Amino acid sequence: MQNYPIFIDLQDQACLMVGGGPVALRKIRLMLSAGANITVIAPILCDDLLQEFGEYITHIKRAFEDGDIQGFRLITAATNSPSVNARVSKLAQQANIPVNVVDEPALCSFITPSIIDRSPVLIAISTGGGAPVLARSLRAKIEALIPANYGKLADAMKRYRGALKAAMPDERDRRLFWDKVVQGPIAELFLSGNSQQGDEQLANSINVGVDNRLGEVWLIGAGPGDPDLLTFRALRLMQQADVVLYDRLVSPAILELTRRDADRIYVGKRRAEHALPQGDINQRLVDLANEGKNVVRLKGGDPFIFGRGGEEIELLAESGVPFQIVPGITAASGCATYAGIPLTHRDHAQSCVFVTGHLKDGTVDLNWSMLANPNQTVVIYMGLLGLPHICQQLTKHGLPSSTPIALIEQGTTENQSVYTGVLCDMPTKIKEYSIKAPTLIIIGSVVSLHESLSWFNPNKEQKRH
Ligand code: SAH
Repeated sequence: MQNYPIFIDLQDQACLMVGGGPVALRKIRLMLSAGANITVIAPILCDDLLQEFGEYITHIKRAFEDGDIQGFRLITAATNSPSVNARVSKLAQQANIPVNVVDEPALCSFITPSIIDRSPVLIAISTGGGAPVLARSLRAKIEALIPANYGKLADAMKRYRGALKAAMPDERDRRLFWDKVVQGPIAELFLSGNSQQGDEQLANSINVGVDNRLGEVWLIGAGPGDPDLLTFRALRLMQQADVVLYDRLVSPAILELTRRDADRIYVGKRRAEHALPQGDINQRLVDLANEGKNVVRLKGGDPFIFGRGGEEIELLAESGVPFQIVPGITAASGCATYAGIPLTHRDHAQSCVFVTGHLKDGTVDLNWSMLANPNQTVVIYMGLLGLPHICQQLTKHGLPSSTPIALIEQGTTENQSVYTGVLCDMPTKIKEYSIKAPTLIIIGSVVSLHESLSWFNPNKEQKRH
């Protein structure tokens, strides 16, 4: 190990910064957030430094002089003069004061790591000052893994340490207790920003034990297909599931990301048949939670957009089962983006409506005059079967028969296909193809942008028709 890592307490400590430019500003920002008292020696301060921290620092407005290092706990040099930087380093080291010269490892007695700040949790990464770009890239990866509210969980654990010690004298018991808390729904409450409830449940668990609790239901939007479109929260919860109930729209690649040993239950629906009636699904969620299980209910797209999410949580709410809802990228958003069709565009559409084209008694019951508006994009979910009727009604209600229309089949997946045409020819055109669900329909002049913008599609081998 080239360096010995330490975290230093700078609360109310006098620290010296030699230099007043943008590099100094970055370091000052961090040191101030660690509570340091900072003196800056520099003939001038850059505007940003002055504006952001002018009132929080002591500024000595002149060049550095040898005697300046006296009385400081920590010294940093960030001037653009190599000789000044070297001088500061030499004097500080002679006086045994830790010194850092920014980007000059040879002149440093300490170096500063790249950090991930979830205070009080702090993660530091160092490459010995030799490869800061590598440290930054590693940092970005870890940032994505550690939820933003991690610090809240750490704070709570710190607060309840004493109470737990009193209630559980055995150290091994306490460790097991914290393990369960950290991997379970109590931690999840803090991570999702619900600290008050987390606090209550933590206090309660200390009294009655962590196992005597209900399971939770997490209703998760899995997005339109590409696993990369999951949210961080969705992935985190999926990896804590005891049981997963999933739909037909949830792709195998996404299902793979749920906890390996979780039970998987298929409850998917097709247009006409229902693998499990909706009422049974609702009841199943309640029953599993009552057995103490953490239940993930995975839905395609967003649970609240043609996803019956509202119906599924009604019974949970009535039965007092704790639940969370995680939004997902809805098909309209995912498919339109991957097909290079902006849903709104200042030259084409000022509004966008999402409707369901689900057949009811052989007809599609929609407000056609509201939909037949040339300055609007209409997105139709579940509209494949009703397509001829939809095209016919829209033209009948005044939308030009030359209005562009796109069908996006299996959008965002590697099998995505985009079929474009106009209202009057699409129903006959698609007879040549055997288009399968899930398919999304987009109608409006924004569809004309598909040709020029579709190269944005990350699926390299996109099929075009
Ligand atoms: N809750 C989902 C929609 C469920 S309704 C969401 O927010 O996306 C099911 C309909 O969504 C399908 O009939 C189809 O029209 C559309 N759909 C969902 N995923 C799709 C995909 N990957 N490609 C095309 N259409 C999709």
